[in-house]
Amino acid sequence: MNAGTSPPAPGSGRVYLVGAGPGDPELLTLRAVRVLRQADVIVYDHLVSAAVLDFARPESERIYAGKRRNEHTLRQEQINTLLVKLAREGKQVVRLKGGDPFIFGRGGEEMQALAAHGVGFEVVPGITAASGVSTYAGIPLTHRDYAQSCIFVTGHLKNGTADLDWPSLVRLNQTVVIYMGLSGLPEICRQMMAHGAAANLPIALVQDGSIASQKVVIGNLADMPERVAQAGLQSPCLTIIGEVVKLHDALAWFKAAVSPAVP
Ligand code: SAH
Repeated sequence: MNAGTSPPAPGSGRVYLVGAGPGDPELLTLRAVRVLRQADVIVYDHLVSAAVLDFARPESERIYAGKRRNEHTLRQEQINTLLVKLAREGKQVVRLKGGDPFIFGRGGEEMQALAAHGVGFEVVPGITAASGVSTYAGIPLTHRDYAQSCIFVTGHLKNGTADLDWPSLVRLNQTVVIYMGLSGLPEICRQMMAHGAAANLPIALVQDGSIASQKVVIGNLADMPERVAQAGLQSPCLTIIGEVVKLHDALAWFKAAVSPAVP
């Protein structure tokens, strides 16, 4: 229970903010499946796979909240208002988000709105893309020989320019995982090299991680924008930068598509 708000009245609605994982429904937590099975209504995002929604009762209501890049079907405030309204109608509401709701998911903002309105809620963590997608691509994020730390950042660029803390991204023995980094890839590679990263630093882009359409493209900072354009990769894509990417060749266990060798 969140501190500072009164508990919901018995029988009143409640919102469960649930992480759906990266795509493979097998990666849902037991808690997520239980909560999905008792939901009256499910408000889900674009990244949630159909196979995950199949766990919900057929009679449950489903509301698509959107959130593709440049296509926000419902604005964030509208989603917040909707969740409050549904809970006040006495419904058991599942707010279903790809990956983990508290990692680049704006789940915190939605729960703040619920807390402000005194609506009861629970958060169910999920496997975030960094973990699930890298695992299915056969790329350990840390490894004693290559990386002792790992950093998660968003590559969503404001006005085409990135205000990322570049010096912190080019540290040695560190893996950088970039969410939402597909459209900004050329700028990301350029800035990393401008801040001292080696042009041959390995980089992987993984599209549709953990599901059958998964594609992995491997390259280096210098040639990756070209490779990715040629491969025609599309969102959602996770970017992984660092020496650990070299392990993909040996460790790719999931039926992955084309993976050119690291130059
Ligand atoms: N809350 C989510 C992240 C939402 S931001 C999580 O914890 O995973 C959306 C970004 O996540 C996408 O742009 C992409 O970078 C990444 N992502 C999510 N699912 C993915 C998947 N199956 N394959 C590749 N990238 C994915």
